[in-house]
Order: sequence, then C-alpha cells, then structure tokens
Amino acid sequence: MRRITSALLAIAASAVLVSSAFAQDLGPRVKKLADGVYVHTGNGFDSNSGIILTDEGVIVIDTGQNPIESRDIMATVKKLTQMPVRIVIDTEPHGDHTTGHFVFPDAVVIAAAGGGDSMRGAERAAPMRIQNMAAISPQMKAALEGYKFVAPHIEYRDKMTINFGGKTLELTYMKGVHSESDTAVWLPKERVVFSASAFVVNQVNILRPFVTIPDILAAGKMIKALNPEFVVPGHGTPGTTKIFDDGEKYYALLMERVGALMKAGKSLDDIKKEVKMPEYASWGSQDRMPTNIDAAYKALGGKI
Ligand SMILES: [Zn+2]
Repeated sequence: MRRITSALLAIAASAVLVSSAFAQDLGPRVKKLADGVYVHTGNGFDSNSGIILTDEGVIVIDTGQNPIESRDIMATVKKLTQMPVRIVIDTEPHGDHTTGHFVFPDAVVIAAAGGGDSMRGAERAAPMRIQNMAAISPQMKAALEGYKFVAPHIEYRDKMTINFGGKTLELTYMKGVHSESDTAVWLPKERVVFSASAFVVNQVNILRPFVTIPDILAAGKMIKALNPEFVVPGHGTPGTTKIFDDGEKYYALLMERVGALMKAGKSLDDIKKEVKMPEYASWGSQDRMPTNIDAAYKALGGKI
C-alpha cells in the first residue's frame, strides 16, 4: 500500500511539474482568456495580439509591435498547436500591428475597408522604414529576415462574421476612432472582445484630424453593449469594460475644461496652453494632448 501511495504521489508530482512547466513555457506575457483564446500582451505600451485556436487552424489578431514580437507570437502558437496560422485579422493598419504579417505566410489577412490603402500610403511615405527598423538592433535585423510587405487580402465594409473551425468572430468597423480602418473583434461565445485602439490604457491617445470624440464614445458604447467579460485593447493591459468607463470620464473632463475656456472666449492656441489634466499626469504620451484638445474643440463646435 505504501509503495502504491508513493508511486501515485510520484506520478501526481510529475504531472504537476509537467503542467507547471507547460504554463511557464508560454511566458508571463501570454494569458489564456477562454477556451482556445489567448492574448499575447505587448511590453509596456506595445501592441497586444490575440491567438485563437480553432479546429481548422489558428487565427491571429494583429501580428505584434514589430517582427521580434511577431516571431514571439509565432513561437507561442507553435507551443499551443501544430496547426498553421490560417487567418490574420488587423484591428488597424498601422505598422505596430501589421509589419510582421510576413511571419505568417499561410494566413489570409482581413481588415476593414481602407486598411490596404492606409498601409500602402505609409509604405510610400517612408520608403526607408524597414531599413531604419533593421538598424535598431541586430535582433531586429534578424527578425526582419525575409521581410515582405503584406497588405490585407480581404477588406470588408461595416460588418463581417467569420465562422471558422468551430469559432465565431464578429468584426465591426469603427469609423473615426483611431486609423482609417479600425476593427473590433468580438467572440460572442467566449465573451472576449479585441477592441482595437479607440481606447488605450493609461496613455493619451493620438487623435488624428479625422478622429472625433463622439465617434470614440460611440465605439465604447457599442462594445460595452456586447457585455464582454474580457477586453483586449490595442495597447495597454487587458481588462474589463472599465477601460471604456475610464476613457469616457477622461473625455468628459477634457470637454468640460475646453468648453469652459471656449465660453470665456479663448482662442484654440490659448486653450492649448491653459488646459491642464493633472488627474491624468501619470498617463503616457502627454505630447499627444494638443491633438486631444483639437478634437474636444471641434466636438464642441469650434472650427479649425
Ligand atoms: Zn495605431
């Protein structure tokens, strides 16, 4: 009896070792959110990626901040399954989500309409981009080995549903929230949403001239109405719908302060000098604040 018990204990102990070794293997930046749904979190404010395992292959959502990250995502996929990555979904076309597409050569890339034009435009505007990136470090140069520009193969308008290998993903285009082509990816069964970069965490977002605060708030409302359990933003620590609540509070306060100065007859330049958001002093990318003030000014009827 004693021998059997100790043998069982040994088996149990090795099972624990095997499972903990496996869990450690995925590293601290990979978290399982639901059955077959993983997030590969970026370092600091770097972009997040999703890994969705299906019966017919893997779906990757955004291919990482840069090709070093893309290769790390691919290594994570290989630890989880032997199946190939068949589909890549872009939550936005910017390089910090799309440069590493070439690391997933078997995948069909899907984006909202405008994603390809945005990527091609960025490529034309910065012809030395990849050479400059390779000069960052020998590791980056090695990760860029075999680089190829890969734009979306399929672009959808407004909405797209993907039923693939037993998983359902609902894609929704979000107008005017960050880029020319922003997509929220919702997994209704798993209650996980990859919410793109309309709202980022603990960071001032860059609001381009075509981005509007009402559009951002509408996107937050739309995603909150899905009632997700997990929210993976384009950048920043994944969490819950509190991400949208926090963003709404920030924009409400910004609009209140900009509005008060507009009422006092101040010019946009003066407003930019005078508006302070000390409650958000700890947020990153404070240099983007003028773009936020521009957007608040426009949302309140100001003409730029
Ligand atoms: Zn972006």
